[in-house]
Amino acid sequence: MNTVAFHTLGCKVNAYETEAIWQLFQRHGYDKVEFDQQADVYVINTCTVTNTGDRKSRQMIRRAVRQNPEAVVAVTGCYAQTSPGEILEIPGVDVVVGTQGREKLLEYIEEHRQTRQPVNAVKNIMKAREFEELDVPTFSDRTRASLKIQEGCNNFCTFCIIPWARGLLRSRKPESVLKQAHQLVEAGYKEIVLTGIHTGGYGEDMEDYKLADLLWDLDRVEGLKRIRISSIEASQIDERVIEVLNHSEKMCRHLHIPLQAGDDAVLKRMRRRYTVDEYRRKVEHIQQAMPQVGITTDVIVGFPGESDEMYENGYRLIEELQFSELHVFPYSQRTGTPAARMEDQVDAEVKQERVQRLIQLSDRLSLQYASRFTGDVLEVIPERPYKEEPDSGLYMGYSDNYLQVVFPGNDDLIGKVCRVRLDQSSSDVNRGTFVRVVDEVPRPSRAV
Ligand code: SF4
Repeated sequence: MNTVAFHTLGCKVNAYETEAIWQLFQRHGYDKVEFDQQADVYVINTCTVTNTGDRKSRQMIRRAVRQNPEAVVAVTGCYAQTSPGEILEIPGVDVVVGTQGREKLLEYIEEHRQTRQPVNAVKNIMKAREFEELDVPTFSDRTRASLKIQEGCNNFCTFCIIPWARGLLRSRKPESVLKQAHQLVEAGYKEIVLTGIHTGGYGEDMEDYKLADLLWDLDRVEGLKRIRISSIEASQIDERVIEVLNHSEKMCRHLHIPLQAGDDAVLKRMRRRYTVDEYRRKVEHIQQAMPQVGITTDVIVGFPGESDEMYENGYRLIEELQFSELHVFPYSQRTGTPAARMEDQVDAEVKQERVQRLIQLSDRLSLQYASRFTGDVLEVIPERPYKEEPDSGLYMGYSDNYLQVVFPGNDDLIGKVCRVRLDQSSSDVNRGTFVRVVDEVPRPSRAV
C-alpha cells in the first residue's frame, strides 16, 4: 500500500485544507504516516504570510527530500502559489500546485511517476472565480470541526500578501456549506467553526444571500449546538448579523474582530476600511446587543510610521473596549507588499517593547473578562484530558464565550455539552466543577 506524509505550515485554513487533501489520498487507498517516517509521497502545505513562512516552508521541503529521495515531493499552499519557480529550484521537488486545483493532485503525482518530470500546476489565482470544493467530513480533533465557507480577499491591506496567494473573494455555495454541516453533525460534532481567508466577507460576491442568511440556515441544522465565526471585520457586522447573533441560541457569544491598529493615521496607511470611531461604535453596539460577549482581536504593533503617540492611542482604545484577549504581532516586513517599501520602519527593540506591554494588557483584560463569570454556570464542551496536569482527572474545553475551562471529568464527557460552574478565573486556564450534561435535555435559555 502507498503511504503519504503531511506537513502543514501557517494558519487554520491550511490545516483544514491538509485534512481535505488527506481525504483525497485516503479515497485512493493511501495510508498516512508521520512526516519523519519513510513515505512514498510527501505533501508540504506551505505558508507565505511572512518571509519566515517562506523560509520554514523551504526547510520542510528539503527535509522531505532528505527523508526519502525516492519519494514524490508535492508542494502546495500559499508559498507554492506565489513562488512556484523558487520551489521548483529546490532539487527533489516533483509537483507544485498552488491554492487551486488540489483535487487533481493525485493525477499530477501519477503524471510525474510516468514522465519523471517536475509538474508545475500553478495557475493564475487572480482569475479564479469559483470556490474550490474540498470536503472534510471528519477531523482528527473530535469536538470542534472547521468548515471553510469562503476563499480569498478583496481588501489588499498594505501589509498583507494573502490576496496574491489566495485570489479574490469567492463564497462557497450555501447548499454545499449546509451539506457539509449536516455531514459533520452526523459524524458527531457539536460545534462548527466557520473559517476562511476573510470569513466575514461571505456572500459579498452573491446577489441575495449574505452571511446572516447562512447563519440562519445553519441555526436550523438539527443536532448542531454551536456555531462560531473564526473572524469577522467590524464593517461586516451589520444589523442582520447582529440580529442572528442576538436571537440564535447556537451562535457563540464570542467574536474575533481584527483591529490591527487603534490610530486613524496608522489604519489609513494599512489601508484598513474603518476609522477608530467606526470600530468603537460597532463594538459598543455588539456589546449592547449581546451582553457578556467575549471579543478578541488582532493587533499589529510597530507598523511603519507608528509613533509613540499613535501606539498610545491604540493602547488606550484597547483598554477602553475591554477585549477578552489580544493576539499581538510585531509588524514584519513582507516582501512584495507596499508596507515593506515604506520608509519609516520602526526599530525592532521599540516593537518588542510595545509587544510586551500589549501582552501584559491582554493578560489583564482576559482576567477581568473571565472574572465576570466566577460563580456562573457555563456550557463547556470538553475536548481532551488536561495534558498540562497529567493524572489529575481534569478535562479541558471551551465555553461558548471562549473561556478555556478545566474541571474534573471523565472520557465519556468528551464532545458533550456540559454545564460547568466556574470556581476560579484566570487570564488563561479557568477552573470549574462539573454540574451535568445538557445534551439530552432541552437547551436552557441563553442566560446561564
Ligand atoms: S483583510 Fe487585509 S489582512 Fe485580511 S486577508 Fe485581506 S488583505 Fe490580508
